[in-house]
Amino acid sequence: MMKYSGYKGKVLAINLTTKKTSSIEITDEFARKYLGGNGFAVRYIFDMVDPRMDAFDATNVVAMMTGPFQGINSPTAGKYYMATKSPLTNGYFDSVSGGFIGAQIKYAGYDGFLITGKADKPTYLFVEDGKVEFRPAEKLWGRLTGETQEMIKEEVGDPNLCVSAIGPAGENLVRYACVITEYRAAGRGGVGAVLGSKKLKAVAVRGSGTNEVADPEAYEAWMQWYKEEAKKVPGLAVGLPTYGTPALVASIGKMLGAMGSYNHKTEFFQNWENISGERLKKEFWDKDTACPACPIACSKVFSAKSGKWKGAISEGPEYETIYSLGSMCGIDDLGAIIKGDSLCDEWGMDTVSYGVAVSFIMEAYEKQLITRENTDGVEFKFGNDDAMIAYIEKTAKREGIGNLIAEGSLRAARVIGGGSERFAIQVKGLEIPGHSARALRGMSLGYATATRGGSHHDPRPTGEYAGASDRKAVEGKAAWVIGTQQMTTIGDSLVNCHFLERLLGFTLTQKWVDMINPVTGFGYTLEELTTVAERILDLERSFNVRTGIRRKDDTLPRRFLEEPIPEGPSQGMHTDEPTLNRMLDEFYVIKGWDPKTGIPTKEKLIRMGLEDVADRLAKEGISC
Ligand code: SF4
Repeated sequence: MMKYSGYKGKVLAINLTTKKTSSIEITDEFARKYLGGNGFAVRYIFDMVDPRMDAFDATNVVAMMTGPFQGINSPTAGKYYMATKSPLTNGYFDSVSGGFIGAQIKYAGYDGFLITGKADKPTYLFVEDGKVEFRPAEKLWGRLTGETQEMIKEEVGDPNLCVSAIGPAGENLVRYACVITEYRAAGRGGVGAVLGSKKLKAVAVRGSGTNEVADPEAYEAWMQWYKEEAKKVPGLAVGLPTYGTPALVASIGKMLGAMGSYNHKTEFFQNWENISGERLKKEFWDKDTACPACPIACSKVFSAKSGKWKGAISEGPEYETIYSLGSMCGIDDLGAIIKGDSLCDEWGMDTVSYGVAVSFIMEAYEKQLITRENTDGVEFKFGNDDAMIAYIEKTAKREGIGNLIAEGSLRAARVIGGGSERFAIQVKGLEIPGHSARALRGMSLGYATATRGGSHHDPRPTGEYAGASDRKAVEGKAAWVIGTQQMTTIGDSLVNCHFLERLLGFTLTQKWVDMINPVTGFGYTLEELTTVAERILDLERSFNVRTGIRRKDDTLPRRFLEEPIPEGPSQGMHTDEPTLNRMLDEFYVIKGWDPKTGIPTKEKLIRMGLEDVADRLAKEGISC
């Protein structure tokens, strides 16, 4: 029985090769040290996975985790967390998705699952109250994510069953294949491809238990505080509930001129109004949806009611998808973007990586580095919505040039050659989302140093948009970026919505501590919580340095380092190499990482309570 609350006290280890399961105890000390979700997963993956092996090796582990807030009706935690060694970046990678399955994992009696091995034939897992079944999935193999979920619900005879499933993209090892739960995606980094390599089509969970909080009265008071405060923040009270994240098209695309377009040849999309949140709401909106228990309901169902793509319907698109399938590909037809969004979900792949990889191919085609001969006769020009749509299925099936798109833009550039790596919009192999590395100084350093590479969920852009940190400043930016990375790490360990930052702070504050303590009973101080964040980030970095990642990899696409934004409100902005290097030097010093190599120092690891990690690095000859 644990002293702390919010935990079931055990994680289920599942071996698909042997079809055996075992239970791993979560001790009080472990929970306090690693908090949940992100912290639990990186500790297990660091211990269990050899970082040098291929991501598709049977020994890779997929962690499916919860934090202390799942299953307690929290308005911000209708989510679950997945992590693995990524086939796209080769490093540690995590992804948080909306879905009631997080609560069901708790109700089934676990804090999470650690899935390893490889099934000999297609399989799905059915976990119910401590009982695990390895069920045959031959008839599900090749199916889209929506029908897979429905077929499993029917087989089990429970229309409310929570199912997380991969699509054909995951089965065919598309390097950015995702996992879909209901209509939500654990989208980035290829977790779905790792499940596909294990022949695991889906995980279904239900339970009849509960999850408890340490101080119910204080927790209830916190929930009331949250609901009242959320009403006072315009973004949470009006912007997100009314338009969802597409509201950002006007603020980022028009006012800042910082929405990557035409594979980042520019960041000012002239036709921004055609793809704006306001137009989506007026002409395409059907209804609002939400992660379980969330009163903000930032998610929307949109459909095309007329035009070329009439009948297309999707939960989404989010801002990131409007950027990747829209402005990046030079497409301003919201019907096409809605169609592309739903197809990516159904075939099971990340919309950001797919769209940015397609925009890369479009520029390579424009530069005649590839021709119609390479594209099965398709004119891969910017603005060709038919090509963007048609190649979703072909990419999922790895047909024709879809086989190259399935590899992601960095690997595609290495095949195409001709200096194309310069305009592959990625960091460490992960395609960059719609938050500008050139117009936001913090994001330039943040993307360069993020565990996952081109991700806006490691560093966050929101504080720079809000003016909490001057988006043009260099001074003090390293400390700011470290603060946002600490905040997202705690958010991902709690497995909570990142929009909480607008209430609790863009970096860790006492408000974060005040949210955690009533649930867990830790009695954390802000100092201890910050140490937890740094411990988790150092573990992620230590995993990555064991894959060979060093300071040289903490960089940006050459286009961003050498070409300023050519037009619009942010014209002339970018971070050049000397400036990035200056910020990196400062970043490593504050982190306690060796500025020459980017490896965490032994002293820092010991200070974080990671003596064993320091020993492991030393044993492998990785020390500074
Ligand atoms: S604000 Fe949006 S993403 Fe966050 S919990 Fe609510 S519905 Fe989910």
